[in-house]
Amino acid sequence: MRIGMAGAGLSCAVIGRGLAEDGHRVTIFEERDHVGGNCHTERDAATGVMVHRYGPHIFHTDDAEVWAYVNRFARFLPYVNRVKATTGGRVYSLPINLLTINQFFGATFTPDEARDFIAAQADRSIAEPRNFEEQALKFIGRPLYEAFFLGYTRKQWGCEPTAIPASILKRLPVRFNYDDNYFSHRFQGMPEEGYTRMIAAMLDHPNIEVHLGRSMQPGDRGPFDHLFWAGPLDAWFGHRLGRLQYRTLDFERIEAKGDAQGCAVMNYPDEAVPWTRITEHKHFSPWEEHEGTVLFREYSRACGEGDIPYYPVHRAEGDDLLDRYQALAAAEEGVTFIGRMGTYRYLDMDVAIRAAMDALRDWRRRHGGA
Ligand code: UDP
Repeated sequence: MRIGMAGAGLSCAVIGRGLAEDGHRVTIFEERDHVGGNCHTERDAATGVMVHRYGPHIFHTDDAEVWAYVNRFARFLPYVNRVKATTGGRVYSLPINLLTINQFFGATFTPDEARDFIAAQADRSIAEPRNFEEQALKFIGRPLYEAFFLGYTRKQWGCEPTAIPASILKRLPVRFNYDDNYFSHRFQGMPEEGYTRMIAAMLDHPNIEVHLGRSMQPGDRGPFDHLFWAGPLDAWFGHRLGRLQYRTLDFERIEAKGDAQGCAVMNYPDEAVPWTRITEHKHFSPWEEHEGTVLFREYSRACGEGDIPYYPVHRAEGDDLLDRYQALAAAEEGVTFIGRMGTYRYLDMDVAIRAAMDALRDWRRRHGGA
């Protein structure tokens, strides 16, 4: 069959590769000048540092099949994400762990003491947290919430934390030991030569053709028997029901030399600081040595028409517009919606790969493929 795909990010790469291996002809249209979507990495010309152009991407998963899959296309080297946060004029360790708690409260708690202390601060009147703020107040109490989450979340999402779902906070663990690994997954690492190299390897198949700098006409399947759409869900439908909300990011380069920050990611929860975080990219490749350095301040704002969408904005109380677009998508013949933008879900890379593998399996079942 002739398969069309819009977008050359992870989701299309997984599905495109699978279909190409089944013998289908796959044509991918990518409006940017590179493959890799928002995981795109490139070496900075001046310093040689591998830069995550659209912000930090750390590969982590509990899914052994997904881990084996990415390791087929790239060599992953050990990398553990250890994030720091500057708040109230001090630097702390994230995710919130025993060191964070002891430093923040000037204490020397053991794990059990810290657990009891935090439990005493927690808001026990909240039985079922209905949103991000209630989730935080129920589990960590107000002082930690205000220092680490309130300002950051307002900046990141452009709304009150009561308006966004509790699931967003659940992305972050709280630990009553000194483990400062930002993730709790079994597998974690960084592709030695970046994500773009990995995704290019996935797309490197005689049955796959990639057209860079070309976008598909939304709403039009073109000459293809089936289309996979990884663009924004509402864009396919010409925004006919209205616009779904996305957040976009702006990156501002900081001129510096040597080691300017000492870690890859420093978060800035203070509301008075306009950026959310600063990333110093060479720390993502601890096996490399560079004299120069590349840092970017990251700012979040509402995504306008010409901007690149990064995050779908979910509402704590649900989203009727999203439900209606999802109903349209489910009824659309010959088109499968995939990826963070196409399914309007806050997918991490490993979850995007899992979802793409599942979509591929589904498609094969329905079309009698491999
Ligand atoms: N968050 C926060 N303070 C932090 C880090 C995260 O309030 O220092 C909140 C914020 O709402 C953010 C969410 O937790 O959007 C998820 O954080 P994560 O680090 O997973 O965000 P990502 O790296 O995907 O942007």
